Amino acid sequence: MRISKTKFMAGVQCLKRLYLQVHQPELSAEPDPAAEMIIEQGYEVGLLARQLFPGGIEVNVLGGLEAAIRSTRELVANPAVPAIFEGAFEHQGTVVKADILQRRKENCWRLVEVKSTADLKEHHLEDVAIQSHVLSHSGLDVSSIWLAHINRSYVLAGETVDPRQFFLFRNLTHRVQNLQPALVFQLRSQFRILAMPTPPEVPTGPHCINPVVCEFFYHCNTPKPNDHIGYLPRLHASAMEQLEGMGVESIHDIPDDFELSEFQRRVCDAMQTGQSWFGVVNAGLIPPLKVYHVQE
Ligand code: SF4
Repeated sequence: MRISKTKFMAGVQCLKRLYLQVHQPELSAEPDPAAEMIIEQGYEVGLLARQLFPGGIEVNVLGGLEAAIRSTRELVANPAVPAIFEGAFEHQGTVVKADILQRRKENCWRLVEVKSTADLKEHHLEDVAIQSHVLSHSGLDVSSIWLAHINRSYVLAGETVDPRQFFLFRNLTHRVQNLQPALVFQLRSQFRILAMPTPPEVPTGPHCINPVVCEFFYHCNTPKPNDHIGYLPRLHASAMEQLEGMGVESIHDIPDDFELSEFQRRVCDAMQTGQSWFGVVNAGLIPPLKVYHVQE
């Protein structure tokens, strides 16, 4: 049994999601075109970031995982290779691919994860922490860990994007190191859950849409009306409980004086008045409200 980085991240969000991805993937919803577009954008942004590491070599994945791991090992051993893109590593059944590895002095490496977001998100830390864990246990000396994300102040000048201005780099080395003990524990739990004959019992909740909308959402959640309070972006579990305690299940019935964030109140007003509102929200929020989302 192997756990990839993607599976690990699914398990961090919800152990049942991980289990279903591995053992019952047929229960998932059809891929969302918007989510696929975000993945495509992420790929384009990743290619742009590679321009900052001239001479870097992409690991060929056509021969499968084992070949990619072998090929990565050869590139690591070749001092003439300044950077490796999509390097593949495995340690005790956990498999990761690193966006960018830059060779530093004395056989050290800089790990760079590229994200097409405008800022650091909490789940990015686990994303790089699992890579760091596998790389280090594969014998690579990772001296620093960085996140490259989009510079929201960047303005296109001319016709081509300048990657030096387009990206901002954040050093996550210490934060990622601090996560390592918890990560080992998480990995153990994930392997244990995957060996079980049935999925774990996990109640639904805010984690079903955060940090991404779970592809098993409609499997686990009984269908709710489009104006259900659960669709209010980032509604905290305690606020949800409070509303349910008041007998409020529809966004239309949320009282004017109920405490919401500014953004939630705008969504609520748009639903209650039927008047559209144009705004900016983070990607990954749930769905079919009559509010228009622009990916941040
Ligand atoms: S819908 Fe929620 S409870 Fe069900 S697998 Fe996904 S995250 Fe877990």
